[in-house]
Amino acid sequence: MGLTEFATFDDASSVKYPQFLRRSEDEIKHLQRHFSKKLKGSRRRHGLGRRLARLHIHIRRQREDFQNKLVHRVFAENDVLVLEKLNVPGLLKNHSLAKSISDASWSSFARRAVFKSELFGKYAVFVDPWGTTQFCHRCLQWVPKDIATREHVCPNCGEEIPRDVNSALLIKRLGIQSRPPTDSGSSPAEQGPLPSLREMVSPSVEAGSPRI
Ligand SMILES: [Zn+2]
Repeated sequence: MGLTEFATFDDASSVKYPQFLRRSEDEIKHLQRHFSKKLKGSRRRHGLGRRLARLHIHIRRQREDFQNKLVHRVFAENDVLVLEKLNVPGLLKNHSLAKSISDASWSSFARRAVFKSELFGKYAVFVDPWGTTQFCHRCLQWVPKDIATREHVCPNCGEEIPRDVNSALLIKRLGIQSRPPTDSGSSPAEQGPLPSLREMVSPSVEAGSPRI
């Protein structure tokens, strides 16, 4: 899951966050601003309140629809979906509204993926997000980058791919080396500690504690 694309997959395909949702969210912000300026108990405020409530319902349905279609598409073509376990309450503390909306969107997508995986007899596997942007998917070399660095260029093995694709491949690698799915129908990674890069990268890197 990312900010420039809603989701990027290990085959380098990606899905954009839909424009219609972004537009509705801008409208919410606009209405909210007006709403808070109106006098309590006034007719204008009442009217804006109703419009806001309707718009919230509309956006929720649009988002549900977008996410359901994406989950269906993923499980139509794959048996296993590997996702990062994002610590959303932690993420929400310190940033912009746009980012908060994405975080909320990602966590509801993850919940939906778990629910549908059980329904379809597929698997949603979660991995530790630690370091998934900072290591090379191929050789596990530490390749530090800040949020603005969009390309992954590995000085060790020479891999050059978009940052989000590298992350997707790393997440897949982590998910695959976790315990194989059982026949019980539950997601195996939910049952124990999450597969983590911490256990795969060299101790010297751990000791240097790269900023993730
Ligand atoms: Zn490499």
